[in-house]
Amino acid sequence: MSATRPTLTPARRRARLFGVIGVIAATGAALAAQSATEGTAAAWCSPAGILRADTLPGTVSPADCDLRGREIASGSAHLTVPAPGSGISALEGTAGGGESTLILLTAPNGSVTITRQTPEDHETPANTPANTPANDAGGPAGGGAATATSAAATTAACRDGSYTTMGYKFTGRFDWYLNSSGTPGYLRPSALSTIATATADVARGSNKCGLARKPKLSQRYAGGTSRRPQISAAGSCTSRGDGVSVTGWMKLPRVLAYTCSYYKWNGRSWVVSESDMAMSTSFSWFTGRIPSRCSYTFDLRGVVVHERGHTFGLGHVDSRTHGSLTMSPYSAPCTTVNRALGYGDYRGLSLMYGVS
Ligand SMILES: [Zn+2]
Repeated sequence: MSATRPTLTPARRRARLFGVIGVIAATGAALAAQSATEGTAAAWCSPAGILRADTLPGTVSPADCDLRGREIASGSAHLTVPAPGSGISALEGTAGGGESTLILLTAPNGSVTITRQTPEDHETPANTPANTPANDAGGPAGGGAATATSAAATTAACRDGSYTTMGYKFTGRFDWYLNSSGTPGYLRPSALSTIATATADVARGSNKCGLARKPKLSQRYAGGTSRRPQISAAGSCTSRGDGVSVTGWMKLPRVLAYTCSYYKWNGRSWVVSESDMAMSTSFSWFTGRIPSRCSYTFDLRGVVVHERGHTFGLGHVDSRTHGSLTMSPYSAPCTTVNRALGYGDYRGLSLMYGVS
């Protein structure tokens, strides 16, 4: 699942959001660790410099290689190996070039599990703009053709029960703050309400399929803050987080948004202690209705719904076979289809958290 293909396809006029591989692949990781221990002074365990995730086994025990304090890179993510019993994930969503993910989990015994997904892992010929529910050809919102396409997408989304999970969850409420500095001027009247609506919608399982029972998870907008998301200007996560979940805006030329989440091992499972998100000021966004002459402009609410899905523990589904779900890694500009969850998105949250 982390095989690297040699070439990237050309950038396309759509965006793929927030790469995550949905499985912390324990079995594969264990096998990789086993094979690593059979070598002597493994070549991948270079004593200095940044280690590349694609050269490392899925799990590295302290006996294999001492990774304490080391930096591991995948795509633009450069993460410092977290302390035992803690974890960190970097999810970046790029416009056109794909997305990448890096998750580092350090077990209490010091073994480090490395999960990564590169943009090319998801790139397939099936993912053409023609396959997306809407494209950026423009035209008035709500036109007949657009409505028919939307209805078909809804039907597909409500027949598809697929989901994946990241391997972590909340045990308490997700309290998030907004740093509004850097909000693009045209979004100032609507950004907070849009982000808050999207976050609340995910927490209550708001879906397009008429499923009314709510997942047992909660969130709260905790107010404004001058704290910053623990995301570096270069586009990666800072090493430790600060324990406060901050959403904000940053100049991120390559990516639509970036999410960094931090976890703790509570003796039974990985629990989210912080989830920060930075939205890029380098792209055009809309809120409310699709602009009448829409071109390469992204739905803020739909992007946040997808992102908060990750925050609450959902991973991606395969866009080739489950492209109508919100947790498909692909999203086109000039569409609002990601605002409401599909059946699989809802089902994943419901099974993780139970329903009330
Ligand atoms: Zn994603």
